[in-house]
Amino acid sequence: MESTAKSEITIQGIAASRGIAYGQVFLYLQSELEIPQYTVDSDKRVAEVARFEQALLVTRQQISQIQAQVTKNLGEEEALIFDAHQMVLEDQALIGETIRDFQKTGLNIETCFNAVAQRYIQAFAEIDDEYLRERAADIKDVAKRVLHVLLGQSAMSLTELVDKRIIVAQDISPSEAAGIDRSAALGIVTDAGSRTSHAVIVARSMKIPAVVGTKDLTTKLKNDDWVMVDGYDGCVIINPTEQTLFRYGKIRKAKQSFETRLMSVNELAAETLDGVAVSLRANIEKPDEVALVQQYRAAGVGLYRTEFLFLSAPRIPTEEQQYAAYREIVGGLAPAPVTIRTLDVGGDKPLPGDPHLIGPEANPFLGFRAIRMCLENPAMFKNQLRAILRASAHGKVEMMYPMISGPEELDRANALLAEAKAELTERGQAFDGQMSVGAMIEIPSAAIAGDLLAGRCDFFSIGTNDLIQYLLAIDRGNSRIAHLYDPTHPAVLRTLKQIVDTGHAHKLKVSVCGEMAGDSIYVPLLLGLGVDELSMTPTLLPSVKFIIRAMKMSDAKALATEALQQTDARKTYALVEAFFNERVKAE
Ligand code: PEP
Ligand code: MG
Repeated sequence: MESTAKSEITIQGIAASRGIAYGQVFLYLQSELEIPQYTVDSDKRVAEVARFEQALLVTRQQISQIQAQVTKNLGEEEALIFDAHQMVLEDQALIGETIRDFQKTGLNIETCFNAVAQRYIQAFAEIDDEYLRERAADIKDVAKRVLHVLLGQSAMSLTELVDKRIIVAQDISPSEAAGIDRSAALGIVTDAGSRTSHAVIVARSMKIPAVVGTKDLTTKLKNDDWVMVDGYDGCVIINPTEQTLFRYGKIRKAKQSFETRLMSVNELAAETLDGVAVSLRANIEKPDEVALVQQYRAAGVGLYRTEFLFLSAPRIPTEEQQYAAYREIVGGLAPAPVTIRTLDVGGDKPLPGDPHLIGPEANPFLGFRAIRMCLENPAMFKNQLRAILRASAHGKVEMMYPMISGPEELDRANALLAEAKAELTERGQAFDGQMSVGAMIEIPSAAIAGDLLAGRCDFFSIGTNDLIQYLLAIDRGNSRIAHLYDPTHPAVLRTLKQIVDTGHAHKLKVSVCGEMAGDSIYVPLLLGLGVDELSMTPTLLPSVKFIIRAMKMSDAKALATEALQQTDARKTYALVEAFFNERVKAE
């Protein structure tokens, strides 16, 4: 067997999408194009321009074909990116400047087009705004296609992947990720990226194992090499030996039967061995996930990230459009409760419908994000508040504000909510006057001054993704420091305890809706700390329910007490892991 002839190498990265894959490598290297430079004879210049126009046309057709394929494979929303690409091809400034350069210099059209495109890419890439930087990626993507057509070369494309392979790339752009055929990709590995990069989100939604942050793996591999992708432990094994294959074969079988075991609790109650019922809810991004919430038997939605409605639309959605989406979710799940979070754009989520509303920032995660942006744009914010209130007439809505930093912000948000209510009353439109209003606790100041927030809202929902990022000063999207992002850090545990205790002292429900809530290893710790409710990606519900059904709440409380006494995060993790393993094995 080929793999045994070479030595086995294990490369550690970051686990990004669960599962194990073994197969041959499809090395996706976006090499630099060699562009010849020459002068075009004056009698051939009209033909040269026509050649350019023809290339634009062919590229347009290529993109339409990919768009159709992506729509078929992944759905319309994922194919939207190609609208932006078609717009680049229709950009009169880019085309006009290329032709003007050509007429001035007489240099071949590839040279002129490349120079103009590079100027645009450079200009966009230097802007300190994620959204505009993404436009640079679009131009780069499209310019490469046009140049390939002009040079008569076929562009390397992930859509060409037809046999079952493991894609290994330096990075995968959103449009490339969207073009991956789920039946042809066994696994995805990227040298760059973090758990939140676009390729990973696509991999997770397609249930393909993925590992990211492998640094320079692409330089160590050739096409057709055999690799094992371990999406559980986040490693890639090059040329695995027979023993490794055997071990992984067993692991894969064990994991598969474990997944089956997990699903066996799907229909059962989320109740501990000593009879404590735990409320488990789902995090959703789109109305079409209502079916998943029901399939995984969530008690409701604990976090509906409304920004995805804004991120996928070409313009900021109107009150009516928002109302329609919220109503679909609320009505679809009634009488189960749905926690709608008001708009959380900014940070890593720019607003495509109005990129200028946020604009370039040096530190977007510390910038004009979420509730800060909404309070400065009260008309837009009240559109959303009215839409949410109107949806509350169709079921049970709870609403929460993201990124609250202190009482003043909460007061201002609530004042706008009161105005929105008065406006609906004036219009004669129905809403639930008793709708619960919560504050997300995800900024350290909110945790420290929690008692000042408690009298101003009905519940707390802890956003551990941001809370940990801000507490430990670890950018949640940066693969270089991802290993420092530690939920068992003593400061994190103390902060969680403080939030829970403050909430309970004021008789508020305290839930957790960050990723930590869906990681079954941390579930006993969170429940032991006194968290009342957990909300997670719907597909993770069975694994969380499984550990809840295998533990006693009294033991979880003892675990939390012991964890709070630790000074070393690694020891805490070891405790938490041992607690988990003992219970899961005993089942
Ligand atoms: C969080 O910060 O934990 C959270 C749930 O919100 P988001 O991931 O959308 O920032
Ligand atoms: Mg957050």
